[in-house]
Amino acid sequence: EKIFSGFSKTRENLSVIDELLMLWNLSDTDRVLDELEEALLVSDFGPKITIKIVESLREDILSGKLKSGSEIKEALKKFVLDLLTSKANKTELQLGFRKPAVIMIVGVNGGGKTTSLGNLAYRLKNEGVKILMAAGDTFRAAASDQLEIWAERTGSEIVVGEGEKVKASTVLSQAVKRGKEEGFDIVLCDTSGRLHTNYSLMEELIACKKSVGKVVAGAPNEILLVLDGTTGLNMLPQAREFNEVVGITGLILTKLDGSARGGCVLFGAVVIEKPVFRYSQVSVVDELGIPVKFVGVGEGVEDLQPFDAKAFVDAIFS
Ligand code: GDP
Repeated sequence: EKIFSGFSKTRENLSVIDELLMLWNLSDTDRVLDELEEALLVSDFGPKITIKIVESLREDILSGKLKSGSEIKEALKKFVLDLLTSKANKTELQLGFRKPAVIMIVGVNGGGKTTSLGNLAYRLKNEGVKILMAAGDTFRAAASDQLEIWAERTGSEIVVGEGEKVKASTVLSQAVKRGKEEGFDIVLCDTSGRLHTNYSLMEELIACKKSVGKVVAGAPNEILLVLDGTTGLNMLPQAREFNEVVGITGLILTKLDGSARGGCVLFGAVVIEKPVFRYSQVSVVDELGIPVKFVGVGEGVEDLQPFDAKAFVDAIFS
């Protein structure tokens, strides 16, 4: 299976505990859990999730619920799978019932945004979906050229802004209007990816979101954040900022074929807390995670795959 073949280092790190578990008895518990903690930390699970996992296992071992090494291993796998599936479980695209559905792709430059957008178009096209692309990265000159190549490659139509100072939000709303008039199923919107610290980018994204919502109620249906899996825990502040500003509905984790470590998948789904507004607009942090919807496992056109939590868990704890 190619999909998670890039996690060989993670697999190797985590396999250390297999040997310990084979010979496990109650007095070994601390040693096994210490090793597990270390293996999870070096695999980019992050301190928060690592502690959750280790302490939950410790409790179940000490209470006598887990009675053998293999039971511990199964509980570990189940715990990780539950983290991935119980809260952030909407891994399929949620496209609503109005046409066109609007998907905005956001993320910083270099993360794999264009590749992901192109590959997503390719994937949807193969499912018989009629796609219109919107060249919303009006900041980078080459971006719309790149997108036009993808439109041609995938047989999609594309809307590109006219004039030098055209606003991203204008291009997007023009595209959604055209999508509506001409019966497209999905409008796939590229956006600018200047460094996330650039405040005006965030303002631009808000404007984009609003402008498409004015054309089709409920749009954008999805705002997918593209994150480079090889950046590990460093992607967290970036992800939080995007989420706080525009509200991310799903993640695309790219470059999982390279040096990315397995835990990044989990931390994406669980640690980025979702601010929700309840009652008098008080922001509370909901335990809901943001689901990983797709993973990028290469540069080829078929290398964007729907995320399968079970396959992921089986791959890293093989
Ligand atoms: P953008 O600036 O965010 O639009 O990033 P691009 O889509 O142009 O991607 C940046 C580089 O990363 C390109 O060389 C891509 O081929 C490469 N890339 C994107 N996704 C993946 C992936 O999943 N695996 C690998 N190995 N490379 C990728």
